[in-house]
Amino acid sequence: MRVGVMGGTFDPIHLGHLAAASEVAHHFGLQTVVFVPAGSPWQKADRDISPAEDRYLMTVIATAADPRFTVSRADVDRPGPTYTVDTLRDLRSEWGADAELFFITGADALNDILSWRDADEVQRLAHLVGVTRPGHVLSDPGLAPGSVTLLDVPALAISSSEVRARVARDAPISYLVPAGVDNYIAKRGLYRDTP
Ligand code: NAP
Repeated sequence: MRVGVMGGTFDPIHLGHLAAASEVAHHFGLQTVVFVPAGSPWQKADRDISPAEDRYLMTVIATAADPRFTVSRADVDRPGPTYTVDTLRDLRSEWGADAELFFITGADALNDILSWRDADEVQRLAHLVGVTRPGHVLSDPGLAPGSVTLLDVPALAISSSEVRARVARDAPISYLVPAGVDNYIAKRGLYRDTP
């Protein structure tokens, strides 16, 4: 079983994330991709993050129509800061020793991986896949050759920060996020006060 583990804050999830998961699933022949919204991203002290439950529900809404995609509460339900090593340990025990895990996230986030908790174990537990928009130049994360795959995904021209900024200035976000996520953001009044 080849399982993608799509880690992100997803504040909010957008069509770029869905396109990236689909592209990685195709590239590696993954049977499923589990989206794992971060519970408490400890490195984001500089801005308010939407409640984990809102980010989790938006992720469920966005992925509901694709049979390859599921959502895990592992990071949302684990108390304390979110560390990827804990995410992968949880997913490993859920899927069993035979599952091959592929941890997918933004290539920029992977740049800092050597400073992550138990970075060696993270690399043993999963193959790392960094997704990025075409033409984006990455700084060298200093990882061993072959331990990480980088994939260009044109739809990643969309970003969560741009979606938040558009909501704050009352610009449309239809066609950047799934319709259900657009409705959820409006219903809950998310991002209106984004600076
Ligand atoms: P981030 O720093 O907010 O994101 C950096 C860039 O990557 C942004 O452009 C972001 O765009 C993009 N990105 C993030 N997740 C993505 C995804 N799944 N697919 C495509 N692009 C993505 O990153 P983050 O959300 O805080 O963290 C990403 C993952 O790394 C999470 O699972 C987090 O738990 C993990 N992480 C672990 C540690 C640790 O263990 N110590 C430290 C940092 C991060 P968008 O804003 O548009 O998504």
